[in-house]
Amino acid sequence: MSARLLDGREIARSLAPALRARIAKLTRPPGLAVIRVGEDPASEVYVGKKHERAARLGFHQQSLHLPAETPEAHLLQLIASLNDDDLIDGILVQLPLPPHVDAARVLAAIDPAKDVDGFHVVNSGRLARGLPSLVPCTPLGVLRMLEVAGLPLRGLEAVVVGRSNIVGRPMAMLLEQADATVTVAHSRTRDLQAHVGRAELLVVAIGRAEAIPGAWVRPGAIVIDVGVNRLADGRLVGDVEAGPAQERATALTPVPGGVGPMTIAMLMENTVTSAERRQGPRS
Ligand code: NAP
Repeated sequence: MSARLLDGREIARSLAPALRARIAKLTRPPGLAVIRVGEDPASEVYVGKKHERAARLGFHQQSLHLPAETPEAHLLQLIASLNDDDLIDGILVQLPLPPHVDAARVLAAIDPAKDVDGFHVVNSGRLARGLPSLVPCTPLGVLRMLEVAGLPLRGLEAVVVGRSNIVGRPMAMLLEQADATVTVAHSRTRDLQAHVGRAELLVVAIGRAEAIPGAWVRPGAIVIDVGVNRLADGRLVGDVEAGPAQERATALTPVPGGVGPMTIAMLMENTVTSAERRQGPRS
């Protein structure tokens, strides 16, 4: 068996017409502000991709790139002014932040209604309760990808490896709300192989190159590899050993070109959702 590759670029493109139709109904273009602090090269690439996609959709944008030594108080003031700016519907602070800045305090300063990354505790709490919220883009992108690919989740034995607030934890909540039976594994899990081997849907978000051997994958499983790891030779690989996993799985996300493009697509959707809630449609 060779798994069907779930092409995130293509799925993300297929969602664009519906999003454009929603944007056309707004009273003004959705506004997105992206704050980047310091010179992290990966962040520069990610932010560049976000701006590029937002520009193609006609968003109003503010790109704020601040020096690494920017005091936290300055960052908090900036967020307060963006919270008050009526033309801005979404505020994103690109992580990681420099060590002298308390990331939790910065994220908590964002108006939850403009929190298009879905990292604010209010949005996490609303998601946990199954209430409407802004949902973190990566797990939301995974869910949307499975939906578009026609892979139903009801009753599936799902295993999520990783429990970060950005990926693993919200992913588990979304899968449970989609009626999968969910196990969350992490660095302290005993016998990870046994859990992985049971998974009909395996989502891996740990950030360690090829940490999950392909031979562990249950035959016929759907494998979602969220990890993005750069090897010493410059190649990008996921958290799952892709070659052997592809031989056993029924569907698999490539790295790159799988979950990454869906994350950016969901950031655009979250910004439009926020704009709809804040602006209301054109009368
Ligand atoms: P993170 O905050 O570092 O969390 C990693 C999680 O993996 C933790 O819960 C940790 O367990 C667990 N873990 C670490 N080593 C493990 C092991 N050997 N076995 C089992 N569990 C292990 O990472 P993250 O922010 O969730 O990101 C994870 C990966 O996804 C990274 O490669 C990141 O670059 C990638 N990512 C990709 C996208 C995208 O758009 N494609 C978006 C976001 C993140 P403990 O909790 O016990 O420490």
